[in-house]
Amino acid sequence: MKVVALGTGVCANGYVPKADRQPPGFLVDVGGFLVLFDCSEGIRYRLTAAGYDYGRVGHIAVTHGHPDHAALPQFIQAKSCRRIWANDQPSFATCNIYLPRKLAEGFPAVWDWHQPENNGAYWPELTPTFVSMDDKSEQMLAPDIILHSFAVPHGFGKHPALCYRLETPEGVIAYSGDSGMCDALVEAGMDADLYLCEASFRIGFVDAKKYGHLTPREAGEVGKRSRAKRLRLTHYLDLDTPEAMLHDLRESGYHGDADVARDGDVYEI
Ligand SMILES: [Zn+2]
Ligand SMILES: [Zn+2]
Repeated sequence: MKVVALGTGVCANGYVPKADRQPPGFLVDVGGFLVLFDCSEGIRYRLTAAGYDYGRVGHIAVTHGHPDHAALPQFIQAKSCRRIWANDQPSFATCNIYLPRKLAEGFPAVWDWHQPENNGAYWPELTPTFVSMDDKSEQMLAPDIILHSFAVPHGFGKHPALCYRLETPEGVIAYSGDSGMCDALVEAGMDADLYLCEASFRIGFVDAKKYGHLTPREAGEVGKRSRAKRLRLTHYLDLDTPEAMLHDLRESGYHGDADVARDGDVYEI
């Protein structure tokens, strides 16, 4: 199994020109079974650059609806047209999108904004299946691949948001999405082989208004409490140096394998 870091950046680029990173996305490849965590703007170009055909990405787990995490209409449209050009290969027709229940319920309005001529439908080539996920939901993606979701606080607690835990025969991956500190992050990552954890807040930031992100140190606390074997910080601004971020992370007492994630990283498990 391997995990490909397609996007470790944030919503805006250009903060640090020499370290330009793309918005969130990670591909989990379990012996050719593909699961995409977050579907950001332009993710399919990055899948192609990493050597993957986006037409074959059949399982997409979206943490929440912020635009930097969920550019779904474009991905769905591209997958549909991709299937036509793939000579109608059945495997290209799978498009299961896992997302917070409220966002699944609200998506028809988003689709209608883009495709009013479809009268609420998609296309014969591809009709996505929206799978509503709640706190402590689990879905069997394949007989031995299970996706667990946990509700997390984000957007002042007003935004339906999830973190995910993916259990496979070859290892466990946890992905925080965007979240403030909470027990759900620990539960999702318990004894994980790899924890992809956000660190959007700068070192020392105190989230007095409870918007819901983590500092590197808080991400380290999540890694420590969950006993994750490997911890990679993602969705960070790059305004603090990697060395300073890792120093702050270690202040948490996390002693496992830790680093900042970079676009193009590949983690073998
Ligand atoms: Zn967000
Ligand atoms: Zn975000």
